[in-house]
Amino acid sequence: MAHYWHEDIECMSREDMRKLQSERLVAQVKHVYEHVPYYRAKMDEKGVTPDDIQSVDDLHKLPFLSKADLREAYPYGLLAKPLSECVRIHSTSGTTGKRVVAFYTQHDVDLWEDCCARAITAAGGTDEDVLQVAYGYGLFTGGAGLHGGSHKVGCLTLPMSSGNTERQIQFMRDLGSTILCCTPSYAAYIGETLHDMGLTPDDIKLKAGIFGAEPWTEEMRRTIEQSLGIKAYDIFGLTEISGPGVAFECSEQSGMHINEDHFIPEIIDPETGEVLPEGEIGELVFTAIDKEAFPMLRYRTRDLCKLTREKCGCGRTLIKMCKPMGRSDDMMIIRGVNVFPSQIETVLIEQGYTPNYLIEVDRKNNTDTLDISVELTAEQFSDKMKDVQDRERSLAAAIKTMLGISPKVHLVSPKTITRSEGKAVRVIDRRKLHD
Ligand code: AMP
Ligand code: ZN
Repeated sequence: MAHYWHEDIECMSREDMRKLQSERLVAQVKHVYEHVPYYRAKMDEKGVTPDDIQSVDDLHKLPFLSKADLREAYPYGLLAKPLSECVRIHSTSGTTGKRVVAFYTQHDVDLWEDCCARAITAAGGTDEDVLQVAYGYGLFTGGAGLHGGSHKVGCLTLPMSSGNTERQIQFMRDLGSTILCCTPSYAAYIGETLHDMGLTPDDIKLKAGIFGAEPWTEEMRRTIEQSLGIKAYDIFGLTEISGPGVAFECSEQSGMHINEDHFIPEIIDPETGEVLPEGEIGELVFTAIDKEAFPMLRYRTRDLCKLTREKCGCGRTLIKMCKPMGRSDDMMIIRGVNVFPSQIETVLIEQGYTPNYLIEVDRKNNTDTLDISVELTAEQFSDKMKDVQDRERSLAAAIKTMLGISPKVHLVSPKTITRSEGKAVRVIDRRKLHD
């Protein structure tokens, strides 16, 4: 079933999209140069003027913006509209240092909510649906973004926010929620709680979930789809660029379409800043070409990703990004080897464990240590010491095959690892804490 929110845009020809992007980019660069002294100074320093930017081909000439710039310019230094024209502030989750704030005019809120409406529509949502928003409401963009998108589509919106999991399930049953929006780790927790309450997917009406705001693996997708009896769609975004809905998954469930009429993506080499050819993995950079209040130009996300223009079965022509492989700052270097938490998650779920785990990295006697605590389900739980040791050994061996280094695996009793209602914290790197 092909169903679009903005068919003319989502299925636009490549030439028309480039023309639209170029027009918007040229106007945006002028707007920023005239209204944001902080960015003007960066352009001046690089010797670039708005006249040098005539089309998307000139994008690479512009200077980058980074999280460090946002912190330096905090709170108003990158604002491009008078505060009297702004209607909203949101803030990043602050997983990596001081929070930054982003500003929105009404136009910006509409643009963002439209992006979320595209995501909901792509996941099969219509005005017949009951959409339960279990992302946190507040400064975090998750709740507000999907809430606004849900209104646009005309779904009956259930603004639950996160937490109080049994009540989430009770409302889901009583009010017949058909679409659930939250982080994937919270979706897994809701699925687990459903089963703990003695219920099965047949007891609820959910058909789809739209999950994002944190990295999750294909294995995690399957776990959630089974436990809730749904199709689970990915959604990507970041506060600096607006929030969730910068990119969204379609029925093909093979990467996310970027709303490139608003946000132009590039992939760069994180070391040199050079733009990489399509298909190569690098750091994702976004330029917001028609946001008014907080118009980021060439913002470095630190998310590692690749882009593809391969034709998509859903009919959309919007470029696709793969699931981000984590942020460049999520990557751990353990005993000289690059390790992503997602690699460990993949092995755990493949080996029949749940996504309830904690990775702890430390340095003892000048050697990095890697400890992984993994929760057993009630069925897996055994009183026999030998069973547990055998399981630990075989799981450690499987992880070693994936990573190339040996972890120490600790299997722990059911329900001992803290569940997440928002973005999960699954890694503690004590080496950083010592620094
Ligand atoms: P926030 O500070 O809440 O705006 O978080 C934005 C960051 O969350 C992004 O830069 C990504 O690192 C991460 N993120 C958001 N959506 C996804 C997703 N679908 N998959 C992986 N990471 C994501
Ligand atoms: Zn598609």
